[in-house]
Amino acid sequence: MFNFEVTVLGASGGPDAGDTQCFMVRPSGSRDLRSICVDGGAGVGQIARILSQAKDMSRPQLIESFYFNDFEPADQFFDPRTPVKLGFPTDLVENVSSNTWKRALQFYKGIKEYYITHAHLDHIAAMVMNSPMAYDGECISGKKLWGLPFTMDAIKRHVFNDLIWPDLLDGTASRLKLDSLAELRLHNCETFPQWDIIPLKVHHGFGVSEPSSRIYSTIYLFIDKHSGSGIVICGDLEQDHASDKLPLLEEAWDYIAKHISHRRLKGIIIECSSWTATQQTELYGHMSPTYLVPALNRLQRQYQEPDALRDLEVVITHVKKAISDKDPRLIILKELRDQAHATQLHVRFSIAIQGYTFQF
Ligand SMILES: [Zn+2]
Ligand SMILES: [Zn+2]
Repeated sequence: MFNFEVTVLGASGGPDAGDTQCFMVRPSGSRDLRSICVDGGAGVGQIARILSQAKDMSRPQLIESFYFNDFEPADQFFDPRTPVKLGFPTDLVENVSSNTWKRALQFYKGIKEYYITHAHLDHIAAMVMNSPMAYDGECISGKKLWGLPFTMDAIKRHVFNDLIWPDLLDGTASRLKLDSLAELRLHNCETFPQWDIIPLKVHHGFGVSEPSSRIYSTIYLFIDKHSGSGIVICGDLEQDHASDKLPLLEEAWDYIAKHISHRRLKGIIIECSSWTATQQTELYGHMSPTYLVPALNRLQRQYQEPDALRDLEVVITHVKKAISDKDPRLIILKELRDQAHATQLHVRFSIAIQGYTFQF
């Protein structure tokens, strides 16, 4: 029994600008196009590409790689037990007709809310550039942007300000509305009222011009009130530093372990931007297997039950396209599996791949 359906519109940690983070989330098996997105790094262009790729399901599924091979077989990127399929669920696609672009616009129209993890461009760019369409012809629709105050303030002041982008948030007739969430506070999802969404603040490195200033990001915990099941979708994040007076990731894990039992926790989508060999000083507020595996072990310990996370779906996002002979996503996947195995952590690791839909 699945509760959440997550289509990956983008999951790269850059520098490729056409595939950055955006997860389209809806209740499993829903037959209409309403959805919410966590982050907006990808949008209508990627939706159109996904719709057109999925038309020809007869070909063996290959994933763009551009390393040792230009394309790699899809099954290398997923745990063999993980419920994941190419494209949008067929029920949804059957509901829309006409050409691919018009169909993509209908999917865009269906996005009712964005939950932004932080205001870095790779998490908001397509949401911003797509926004005029919310005022346009067949696409007219209201959209709500949500996030913690540090994210919403940055988007309002530095993006929709008539200089970087037209201030489409202005005025009561605006189709784009922006509102802040409160940290650790339960927020009832407007589009899917059966869901509560809780934002948890985490660390994401330091400023470049002001190295003493902290950068923050957000983890979203989704809880389905009907079934009690939940998933966790993370923005960029790093491990807590020993000097941190506020160990935010530890607090987040603590909150999650207290509010959802490990049996009801269906999956975690979390970043692992760089491979193990990367020095801590070169991570710039991100994760590598060296830090992610201990972090998952820490969450397991919070449940105070051995092997509490057995078979949990852990989907890795935001891998950087580093210079390499082999696809960094495949390197990181192997490193995570090896390091987890060595510490008796029995989760199922997969990679978030653009155009694939995971069931949780
Ligand atoms: Zn970031
Ligand atoms: Zn990022």
